[in-house]
Amino acid sequence: MSEDLLEFVEEDLPSLDEIERFASGGARPKSCTGSLRECAARILLTLTRKTYPPDKAERLWQAIVAHEKWVTGKLGRRSGVSVAALDYLMNVAGDWDQAVVAEVEQIETLADAATLDGLTGLYSRDIFDQWLAKSVAESQRYGDPLSLLMADIDDFKAVNDTYGHQIGDTVLATIGSAFLDNLRSADFAARYGGEELVAVLPHTRGNSAAIVAEKIRKAVSDQQFENRLGVTISIGVACWHEDINDSAGLIQAADRALYAAKEAGKNRVVIHEP
Ligand code: GH3
Ligand code: MG
Ligand code: MG
Repeated sequence: MSEDLLEFVEEDLPSLDEIERFASGGARPKSCTGSLRECAARILLTLTRKTYPPDKAERLWQAIVAHEKWVTGKLGRRSGVSVAALDYLMNVAGDWDQAVVAEVEQIETLADAATLDGLTGLYSRDIFDQWLAKSVAESQRYGDPLSLLMADIDDFKAVNDTYGHQIGDTVLATIGSAFLDNLRSADFAARYGGEELVAVLPHTRGNSAAIVAEKIRKAVSDQQFENRLGVTISIGVACWHEDINDSAGLIQAADRALYAAKEAGKNRVVIHEP
C-alpha cells in the first residue's frame, strides 16, 4: 500500500462493506454522524479519493445507488456499489478523469471479473473464486449453512469425438441454462473449468442443495439434442461445516463427492459426507 493511500485509510472513513450495506438500505457507516450530505461526501471520498461539495456529493450518491440497481438488473445479481460508482462516474457522469481512485485495484479487479462466460451465460471462474471466498467467510462468521454443487458432464469427450465440438458447445450452453433455470436469484452459478459447472447456494443445507442438484441433473438427462443425442451429468454436493476452513476445503469436498458420483456409475448426485 502506498504511503498516501495508507494515510488516507487512517482517516476513519467508511469502509467499503459499510458503504455496501448503506446502499442496500442498511445502517449508516459508523463514522458518518453528520447530515446525509456530509455522509455522502465521505462515502464519495472513500470511493473516488476526490472531495465533492456536500450537495453535489448527495446527488451523485443517489445517482450511484440508482445506477447500482440498474446494473444489477442487467447482470442478474448485485453488482456492488463500487462497480456501480466506477461505471457511473466513467460512463454516465463523465467525471472519472478528475477522480483519483482509492480502491482502484479492487474496483478494477471486480469490474474485470464481473464478466459472464460467453458460452454458458454463467459467471466466469475469476469472480466465482472471489464470490466463494466471500461466501465461505460469511458462513463462518454467522454459522450460516452454505452449499456448493460441482457438476461435470459424463463422457463428454465421446460427445465431442462423435458429434463434433460445435454440438459439444451447444450441449454445454444448454447445461448452463439448466443451471440458471433451476437456481434461485441468490444462488451463484459459474463455469469452473472446460466442462465443469459450479453453483454456490447460500443459506442452504446439503440435503436441500441435493434436491436442487437432482432437478438440474434430471433437466439435463430429459433433454434431447440433435440426432437424438442424450447427455448426462454427475454432481457432487458439499455443505460448509466447521471442519472446512476455507473455500479450497469446500471445493475439495464437492470434488470428492463428484468423483464418488462418477465411480458409482455417473448420471447421479452424491453428497459429501464429512
Ligand atoms: P467423465 O465422464 O469421466 O467426465 O468423462 P469425460 O469424457 O467427460 O471427461 P474428460 O475430462 O476426459 O473430458 C472432458 C472433455 O471436455 C474434453 C474436452 O475436449 C471437453 N471440453 C472441455 N471444454 C470444452 C468446450 O468448451 N467445448 C467443448 N465442445 N468441449 C469441451
Ligand atoms: Mg472433467
Ligand atoms: Mg466430464
